[in-house]
Formats: sequence, C-alpha cells, structure tokens
Amino acid sequence: MGLAAAFSFYPGKNLGACGEGGAVTTSDELIANRIRMIRDHGQAKKYHHDMEGYNGRLDAIQAGLLGIKLKSLPEWNEKRRRNVALYSKLISLLPAPCSVIPSFVPEWARPVYHLYIARVQKREELQKYLQDNGIGTGLHYPVPVHLQKAYAGKGYKEGDFPITEKVSKEILSLPMFPELTEEQIKYVVETIRKFYV
Ligand SMILES: *Cc1c(COP(=O)(O)O)cnc(C)c1O
Repeated sequence: MGLAAAFSFYPGKNLGACGEGGAVTTSDELIANRIRMIRDHGQAKKYHHDMEGYNGRLDAIQAGLLGIKLKSLPEWNEKRRRNVALYSKLISLLPAPCSVIPSFVPEWARPVYHLYIARVQKREELQKYLQDNGIGTGLHYPVPVHLQKAYAGKGYKEGDFPITEKVSKEILSLPMFPELTEEQIKYVVETIRKFYV
C-alpha cells in the first residue's frame, strides 16, 4: 500500500476499537521513527522534542482489545463480502422504476466494505422512507472536499467537479455490518422497491 498506509480503528470500522484509535504501517525505518515521534509530542527520547507533534498514542487497553478482535477480522470481512453479494444481486434485480445503482467494484479490487454505498434518485425522500420503516442509513459524504470551508483557500467553487458534485447528491450508505442477516438485507431492498414502485 505504498510507502506507508494509515488505518482507522474508529468504532464503526471493520476493525474498531472501543473508542478512538489508529495505526500506520510501513516497512521504511525512517518513516516509522518519524511517526513514532509525531504521535508522542515529537519526542526523540524522554524530555527531548525534535519536532512538533501531538498526542496520538494508542491506549494499551485499546491495543489489547484490537489484538483480540484482529483474529476475527478475516471472517468479518468475508461476511461483509457475502452481504454485499446479496445486496448487489437483489438491487440489480429491482424493476425499472427503481433508480438504484449497486456499489461498483473494478476488476482489480477486493474491497472489505466498511460501507455499502448505492447511488439512488430522490435520496432525501428515500432516506426518510427507510427511516420510517426502521432502516438507518448514512451519507459518506454529502459535502465534497473542494466545497469544504477548510479548503476554501484552494479557490475551488461549485461546478468545478461536476461528477463529484452529482454523485455526492446520490450516494446512500445502506446498513452494513458482518452480522446482517439475509432476511434483513431482503427487507432493506424490498423496502427500497416499495418506495419507488
Ligand atoms: C473512518 C474514516 C474517517 C475517519 O478516520 P479517523 O482518522 O479515525 O478520524 C475519515 N474518512 C473516511 C472515508 C473514513 O472511512
């Protein structure tokens, strides 16, 4: 995954802590040492700060919990993939007036599906209809990076990335976790069908 890869252990992730957490993997010694310093207030050794850093240390209790959960991760990822296969199959079988596009997977990819994101029309109404029928959904994410206030200084404006902007209004994250049952997935897709038909 390049020189270094970053992982979030946010509770909702495939490998989630019981609180905040994260990790960086790298096979590069220089990067590893730098990251160890950054996470610990830039300390090279106790009382000696070679750079500005912050407190990004992973709690031992989180590490202990993650170490136990890590053993189950391959199995949980497989269950997510199985859920996706059913979601995508049922969604692709929906009759014509249903404007729902299943999650796209390129030939070379093997996703672990932290989220299952479909593209839908009339998103706001559909989301409310699902909510009223006991189905929670999410938006990841409705405001594209180039329209975030934090990046206003880059000078981008609405219309600069028309495809991103279009898609950001159509995405809908359907319920996704390893323990989802076949019945629950069928209920979600059937409720989507009822909304459109
Ligand atoms: C989890 C997640 C984040 C948040 O990650 P943290 O570093 O734990 O805050 C941001 N963006 C995406 C796409 C994510 O999936």
